[in-house]
Amino acid sequence: MKKDFIFNDINKLKGVGPQLSKYLKKKKIEKIKDIILNFPYSTTDRSTIYKLNELEIGKIQSIKVIVKKLYFPRIRNLPNKIICEDDTGKIDIVYFNSREGYLRKLFPLNKWVIISGKVNYFKKKYQITNPDYVTSIDNKDYVIKNIPKYNLTKGINEKKYRSISDKVINNIPKIDDWLKQDFIIKNNLVSWNESITNLHNFEDSEIHKSKSFRRVVFDELCANFLTLSENRKVIKKKKPPKKFDKKYEELILKRLPFKLTNDQKRVLSEINLDLLSDYRMFRIIQGDVGSGKTIVSLISIINVIKSGYQCALMAPTEILAKQHYELSKKILNKINIQIDFLTGKTEYKDRKMILNNLSNGSTDLLIGTHALFQRKINFKNLGFVVIDEQHKFGVKQRSELAKKGGENCDVLLMSATPIPRTMMMSLYGDMDVSKIKEKPSKRKKIITLSKPEKKINEIWPFIKNQIGVGNQVFWVCPLIEESSFLDYSSAKKKFELINKKFENKVGLIHGALEKDEKQKILKEFLEKKISILVSTTVIEVGIDFPNANLIIIENANKFGLAQLHQLRGRVGRGVKQGTCILLFKDGLSKNAIKRIKILKESDDGFFIAEEDLKLRGFGDLIGFQQSGIKNFRFADPVNHEDLFQLAENYVKNVSDKINQKKYAFLLKLFDRAEIINTNEL
Ligand code: ADP
Ligand code: MG
Repeated sequence: MKKDFIFNDINKLKGVGPQLSKYLKKKKIEKIKDIILNFPYSTTDRSTIYKLNELEIGKIQSIKVIVKKLYFPRIRNLPNKIICEDDTGKIDIVYFNSREGYLRKLFPLNKWVIISGKVNYFKKKYQITNPDYVTSIDNKDYVIKNIPKYNLTKGINEKKYRSISDKVINNIPKIDDWLKQDFIIKNNLVSWNESITNLHNFEDSEIHKSKSFRRVVFDELCANFLTLSENRKVIKKKKPPKKFDKKYEELILKRLPFKLTNDQKRVLSEINLDLLSDYRMFRIIQGDVGSGKTIVSLISIINVIKSGYQCALMAPTEILAKQHYELSKKILNKINIQIDFLTGKTEYKDRKMILNNLSNGSTDLLIGTHALFQRKINFKNLGFVVIDEQHKFGVKQRSELAKKGGENCDVLLMSATPIPRTMMMSLYGDMDVSKIKEKPSKRKKIITLSKPEKKINEIWPFIKNQIGVGNQVFWVCPLIEESSFLDYSSAKKKFELINKKFENKVGLIHGALEKDEKQKILKEFLEKKISILVSTTVIEVGIDFPNANLIIIENANKFGLAQLHQLRGRVGRGVKQGTCILLFKDGLSKNAIKRIKILKESDDGFFIAEEDLKLRGFGDLIGFQQSGIKNFRFADPVNHEDLFQLAENYVKNVSDKINQKKYAFLLKLFDRAEIINTNEL
């Protein structure tokens, strides 16, 4: 097989027709190389030939028998049957939906055959229904052994898959390894070809710890990190430095009702240095909910506007965008600049005017949703793009964004999802990172309490009091399964219950609602038309509800720590004391107690993210999955922490050599080549 052949569509493989290829694609096996990366998870032991008097019902066993009789009843629904025997007994081999010609070939009369499959017992006789394998004696070595088990459900049988997989695996081209031999030995890895062969033979039951698997993990990490470093090179190009007078920044700061925290000041100066430098900014601010990212971005926006450029500030939802719009009008009002607001819903007439203002340069700052980046929108001289709360922005979106912004454009992202240290490089390796750890000093720490659900009655008076003094309450309903229907019904039930107690003061919001409907309800809550908002986990990130100071989270043990922390961050953003009550179903497990303790003691999102990773393992982190962060097939920051570090160092040393053919192979193997357009490498 030629090296490049493995990057072809799966249907280029002999024996893979349209139907099979459709099925495989559903299982994410799209190209031939995906067969290579689809490793078995276990084996089936077919290595012993059993006598018929040694069979065990329900087990997969192999037998050697002589074909005595074939029955082909011509009645619908009656199966075809082949009677076989050895010197100890008889067995029926039963086939549903099979063709006579095929079976006659497979079972030549009076010849010995090897059969392997699950043994049943029916009407006092052993039988095997639709056996996995039937072969002649000559071919027995193909069946009589430990056979790898691949993750396949209905639609394809093991034999068929194996015939395809074998064809590929046995013909893998010998590749020019991107790792040097001494590096491989020093770090206890194996060569690429060897690792693939080993993994498909499933030699080690502790696959995640095996050298071969670690090799594949290392490769996957390298592919990811190389892509990011390449993306960075593409984006961090030269640009004309921004030139501004600090007096506007100082003016705004002076008029704020608070002083910036030290972290905010530091991040602002990091941003300013980027703006003033002659390389484009590509930076992300990471800061816990409520750490005050917005004001930092608005001040840098002013600096860019005063250097004679236009700015764009994009938020994921209309409400959040609107809040930013109101805030910036308030903060920037004495400085003579033109701010416009644009969303998908902006009326045609207004939209036309805004587009006109943008292209003639009279708009200084455009705030809005995704609508900002539609094709028809032309800025006269866009110099700065700020994206808020867009943790779903993957590498690809980031590079597209940077391209759209144009050559003079600096780019700043803001995220409230703290990331464990191990994962920083894999997520944001192409960006510079600024962290805000410190909370504004006047902010009171949120009181976190836990309660068994049985005692729910004890909290009604507390809620009543809160509402009585004009405060607002979030009530987050159980996250049951991934089923949005169940989530919805439980939220709805809870809504009905609470609405009985607090009539006309309760709203309900859940994932099954239309986007507009959601926005409407959030707005009502924001405008204090309702006091309690019952919701599934759809409450928007980022929106400031200064009046909400109590959040109740049901079934709290279903959430990860990081997610609980995020939810808790919805309240206590104003000056009032915030409270978070975690409700639990039954007696608490040790782990749950530990987690509550962490939440009660810490309000540092970064610390909590680390603990979350330790306690739950990467695969369970709902919060991370939802934010699209889990983008590895093999690598896992808990199990392979050392490899994350190793790959990071490796990539730092080789990233200038990415143009070598061998790295192109690596990038294609992990589907990264398209992201950075290196098909031609
Ligand atoms: P986030 O980082 O979650 O986006 P915001 O920028 O929305 O946080 O800020 C949350 C609240 O904190 C806002 O009401 C904002 O005015 C306030 N705030 C920001 N910085 C400070 C500060 N240094 N001192 C006091 N309050 C601040
Ligand atoms: Mg924010």
